Amino acid sequence: MRGLFLIVLLSMSPAWIGSQKVQKTQQDTPLNIILMIGDGMGISQITAGLIANGNKLNLERMRHIGLIKTFSYDNLITDSAAGATAFACGEKTINGAIAVTPRKKSMPTILEMAHQQGLATGVVATSYIQHATPASFYAHQPNRSMYEDITKDFLNETVDIAIGGGRRFFEDRRDKTSLLDTLATRGYEVFRGIKKAQKNAVSNKVFVICAREHMAAMKMGRGNFLSTSTDFAMERLGQNEKGFFLMVEGSQIDWGGHANDKSYIVDEVIDFDKAVGRALDFAEAQGNTLVIVTADHETGGFAVEGGSFIRQEVIGDFTTGSHTADLIPVFAYGPGAENFMGIYDNTEIFSKMVAQYGFSLPNGD
Ligand code: MG
Ligand code: ZN
Repeated sequence: MRGLFLIVLLSMSPAWIGSQKVQKTQQDTPLNIILMIGDGMGISQITAGLIANGNKLNLERMRHIGLIKTFSYDNLITDSAAGATAFACGEKTINGAIAVTPRKKSMPTILEMAHQQGLATGVVATSYIQHATPASFYAHQPNRSMYEDITKDFLNETVDIAIGGGRRFFEDRRDKTSLLDTLATRGYEVFRGIKKAQKNAVSNKVFVICAREHMAAMKMGRGNFLSTSTDFAMERLGQNEKGFFLMVEGSQIDWGGHANDKSYIVDEVIDFDKAVGRALDFAEAQGNTLVIVTADHETGGFAVEGGSFIRQEVIGDFTTGSHTADLIPVFAYGPGAENFMGIYDNTEIFSKMVAQYGFSLPNGD
């Protein structure tokens, strides 16, 4: 009876989406992992987005929820470099460090491990693509401010798809090289806009560098960039039969916090949540994709003090222009999601992802 039931279910689902087989009924570990980071997105930022969006968010579709301790190696309050390094490498490091130990030794990242195992990899951000959060997945530098060196680490070719801003660090360099040209000679397709890439890209190795500086803020007209880019990355990376790792960052929620600007926060949280919705749609259709949504830290010491979801209005206030030490929520959806419940260190995001992929750890244990 049970076998027959499975056959019926399998025959109801489309056989292939991209070239990855749909295994909706029996998958208990994921083929693909999408890690989505809302930089500076604490509970109050989520609450503000929820109210301003009329009391609904895509995040509510995720039923497995945990909390992480975000402290860095040397500070109760992490920065984005140490925060992202914890997710990427599974080790606490000093603030400012990009995927290196406090003594500046490179540590392998989950993206690099995935690449080594033959999975496709991608990074998407609404900041420079070399900013601390995305950089910590593909670069190894002692300081986050070393943008030109971080950019050069793309020449390791561990990233298949990169989408974001920061063209100046590829093209206006002290060494006078154009790294986008170098990448092109190595078989990457290079585009200056996501719509152009969607229309014209023919391969699955694509750099889409859409701005000289950071991507514009939502209120300055960024539009659907993040959702479109997430869709593009999932669709291309999803053609790899061995699976993929994708990191997507809503980079500017943090900047709303630093500026103590609640409408900036709200616009960026709602935009990020739309991209979360796209990832959940993909995961729902594929059945083989684990989506994890979290943040590196909270920014602003923000609290919601009033407002109305009918008028979609938020009243709130801030206690700081910097980051705080608040515990940060983790939302998970898909095969393995239940492992992300509980209270644990930010470094465990890495070890849990490694376990879900079934990779063995670099030190052999
Ligand atoms: Mg960031
Ligand atoms: Zn910040």
